[in-house]
Amino acid sequence: MSVVLCSNCFVDQGLRFDAEQIGDEDDSACPNCGSTSGRKLSMQKALELAHRFFVWGTLNRVDYGAAPVVVFNEHQKTDIDISQWYEKDVELLGNTLGIGFFYYGPNLWMLG
Ligand SMILES: [Zn+2]
Repeated sequence: MSVVLCSNCFVDQGLRFDAEQIGDEDDSACPNCGSTSGRKLSMQKALELAHRFFVWGTLNRVDYGAAPVVVFNEHQKTDIDISQWYEKDVELLGNTLGIGFFYYGPNLWMLG
């Protein structure tokens, strides 16, 4: 299992927290940030992190009834308002995993 990222790669507290939850204890240096103390994430764990944080995160944030849901895949470029997260974190995950984040929801077809 090769490490691609670690919990110390992220600026966002929530992402760091989630990464610590699912990452493995491993004192090798992170290939991205060089940290030895961060919980290490394999490609699969990084995907899981992205899913937990962005997809479930947006689902939990439905205060207004019809909040857009963020999904991702390897075919699309990132096209979400990432101001609520740290741009660098989103870019890091997107670039590492080769995926883009975008909104999925019935209301969005009208927003162009
Ligand atoms: Zn790292």
